[in-house]
Amino acid sequence: MKRTDAHCETNFDPAAYAFVATFYCGPNLDIAEAFNGRDAIAAREQYKEHGFNGNFARNGTCDHCGAWFDWGAFLKHIPSGELIAVGHICAETRFSLQSRDIFELQRAKRLRERAKTAAAAAKYLRTHPDIADAFHLFRPDDKRADRTYNLTEKALNTLMHIEESLKHFGTLTEKQAAYVVKLRALILEKHPKDKMEKAARDALLESVPDGDERITIRGKVVSTKVDYTQYGEQWKMLVQDIRGFRVYGSIPSSIYDAQRNDYVTFIARVKRSKSDRLFGFYSRPTSASFVAMAIDRRDG
Ligand SMILES: [Zn+2]
Repeated sequence: MKRTDAHCETNFDPAAYAFVATFYCGPNLDIAEAFNGRDAIAAREQYKEHGFNGNFARNGTCDHCGAWFDWGAFLKHIPSGELIAVGHICAETRFSLQSRDIFELQRAKRLRERAKTAAAAAKYLRTHPDIADAFHLFRPDDKRADRTYNLTEKALNTLMHIEESLKHFGTLTEKQAAYVVKLRALILEKHPKDKMEKAARDALLESVPDGDERITIRGKVVSTKVDYTQYGEQWKMLVQDIRGFRVYGSIPSSIYDAQRNDYVTFIARVKRSKSDRLFGFYSRPTSASFVAMAIDRRDG
């Protein structure tokens, strides 16, 4: 799982690359035809011969970070002569840096800021136990959670957004805090601590959407496991969506270290299981990110 090649985040040196060509590899053939000029086509040919055997060659994703992209760039790794294909975001924000030092400085700054915010957020939750409890309420492992699913999705979404914003800013606005406290009171009052039968509980869980559209999944990682395939090891995860259903598929590269109890979000095509309306298989996940790390992995 851990990469050791020259192009990954740990090893790459932006100064070691020369720009070759930009290209489009998205689904719109008109754009592809209009945009991919002689440079792009030549680079693509060159890539076939001297391309890095990595994400792009195997999955069509960024050789640096593994994300899906439509717009990208071929870069030549000067020391090895190898071509890599990266998404435009990596091309612009990482490979256009003048040196590895600048990348490290930027990264250190980001990490410092993140650590500061995480500490502030943790402190906020310690000093506001009712808010911490409210965030915990709707989680699948909360013993009261089986009764919270008949909250509207809008309320759950707002709650998750507020939790995200706490992670981002290290604190909540008074309005956000008031909303969370009120919601918690509502949940606890409406759903006294009685035991529900599993069937009754399941009836409150939403089915996996039936159709071919890409949907946003938001929820908790229930478990992860590794599958050994002809392409090497592939990490899979089972995610409990906040709406109640569960989905299973490959862990997207941008959250490759996802673990049990992390909260994640991503967009993917989901196919409902034929035998279980509450279970689905997802494919081609994009835009994956952490909403929150598991409690035991958080700072502070
Ligand atoms: Zn990338």
